[in-house]
Amino acid sequence: MPKLQINQVAFKFSVDSTELNTLSFRFATYRSYYPNPRLLMKILLVLFALLFSQWTVAAPVLSINQVAPGIYVHWGVQEFSDTKNHGAIANIGFIVGQRCVAVIDTGGNPEQGLALKNAIENTTSKPVCYVINTHVHPDHIYGNSAFKNTGAKFVGHEKLARAMSVRGDYYIQKAPELLGIALTAKDIIPPDILVNSELDLDLGGRTLKFTAHPAAHTDNDLSVYDPQTDTLWLSDLLFIEHLPSIDGSLKGWLAELDKLESISYTRVIPGHGPLVTDWPKSMQPEKEYLSGLLIETRAAIKRGVFLEDAVSTVGLSFKGRWKLFDEFHRKNVTRAYAELEWED
Ligand SMILES: [Zn+2]
Repeated sequence: MPKLQINQVAFKFSVDSTELNTLSFRFATYRSYYPNPRLLMKILLVLFALLFSQWTVAAPVLSINQVAPGIYVHWGVQEFSDTKNHGAIANIGFIVGQRCVAVIDTGGNPEQGLALKNAIENTTSKPVCYVINTHVHPDHIYGNSAFKNTGAKFVGHEKLARAMSVRGDYYIQKAPELLGIALTAKDIIPPDILVNSELDLDLGGRTLKFTAHPAAHTDNDLSVYDPQTDTLWLSDLLFIEHLPSIDGSLKGWLAELDKLESISYTRVIPGHGPLVTDWPKSMQPEKEYLSGLLIETRAAIKRGVFLEDAVSTVGLSFKGRWKLFDEFHRKNVTRAYAELEWED
């Protein structure tokens, strides 16, 4: 204890001045406990720098690309969500109006949500007024908590809140094991504004048009159209390169694609995969896969093929044309089988 030593030195000095030699020795010992002020300052500076570098690591800024005036996208990776990427795989981003900003999906974990928020703050001083969740899947909603106290309104399909409450407990329970992240109920934030068919929201001189789709990729898919740039943010209704995953309705999804195919768009932003500027050409592989799945699963059911056999025989000609085929295809056949089994 250095303080104790100082007292001891003072005491010895006052009691016995003949111990001066001992005193100077002890004083030297005391000095050795305390480095000189310059060294102390250096140590403090190093500690401060270390602390500061920790802060910057804890507050990263998400990389974004401006794909049209005021539309920014972070392009996700074509990977299966796991404990290495922590579920940060989807295309997410934001649209800037004259008054405020709309976030389109918040990312696969709370840290990615914060990184997106930092990217927005680096891009514009305008506040976030809307946080749109295009559907319930974890890679699109787990960053929600970053925007909780911003005053922004959360926007979703009218069936999104139900889907969140049905899956929330499971998502929270599985997040450490599947994604290597910890979630609480506070991370699952349901929408304040529900869209049941169509809705317009104004960002100031920029009105976004929302469409709540019938069951397709999920039963709560919401798309966003920006008339100003003729951009459709289709999210997971469109997969490019990454195999589409069915969690809603195969027939419903094909019906939505039929409708969308007849409309022209300058650009379309998929939920997974690169920007589309040749709509509807780039959508054809998805349509072919889903159509093929429908035809082959239907035929297998008609032939009396059991589900266990169907998952390893249906749609195999599509293997090699898609990334993550092995991760999603069997599940897709299972969903298709369940949907088509009682058709007749
Ligand atoms: Zn999805």
